Amino acid sequence: MVIKSVELETVCGVTSVLPENTLFEVAFAGKSNVGKSSMINTILNRKGMARISSQPGKTQTINFYNINNIGYLVDLPGYGYARANEEIKAQWGVMIENYLHQSAKLQAVFLLIDIRHEPSENDCLMYDWINSQGFKPIIVATKADKLKPSQINSHVSRIRQILGMGKEDVLIPFSSETKLGKNELMDLIDNYLLR
Ligand code: GDP
Repeated sequence: MVIKSVELETVCGVTSVLPENTLFEVAFAGKSNVGKSSMINTILNRKGMARISSQPGKTQTINFYNINNIGYLVDLPGYGYARANEEIKAQWGVMIENYLHQSAKLQAVFLLIDIRHEPSENDCLMYDWINSQGFKPIIVATKADKLKPSQINSHVSRIRQILGMGKEDVLIPFSSETKLGKNELMDLIDNYLLR
């Protein structure tokens, strides 16, 4: 897919009514600071489109990016920011749960995990939660440039093992720095939005 146009069409806060889009959607979830904004900018080929946060967890919105008028890339709020207060943490859960429940057009949910670290308890909860909502999470293992190439396989295996992924479940090692995994990810998004 060649990105010809991108528009941040809808931004939903905790009290907003979610849009009833007619085009398909793919959503991206992950812990704050996992590299989600960087990944979105990388795949959209737009440097400042998603805000790369120096203060993780600040944005508690669901952002709908209209791509080429063929579908939406949906940026879910980052979870697990240690310094967020309980009320804000609860809001994240409500927002994400409402969205996963309500969106009639959601085709796939991508979950971002930092390739360097074992998935946290929150990552595992999110993985199970996405599963229980009827979606097979697709794992994007971010910041792969921070590992030596020879380390990638063992980290991937460990992430798969901890999340309890099946052989056929998809995990893509990704780097916004080197663009590793970009084409594979774009092809998947393309398939989901166009089917
Ligand atoms: P978000 O909170 O999940 O949206 O994460 P950001 O995209 O804001 O990234 C958090 C931090 O990780 C920033 O300092 C980024 O520059 C850095 N980062 C994100 N992706 C990569 C990557 O692929 N490689 C490296 N080395 N750093 C990254």
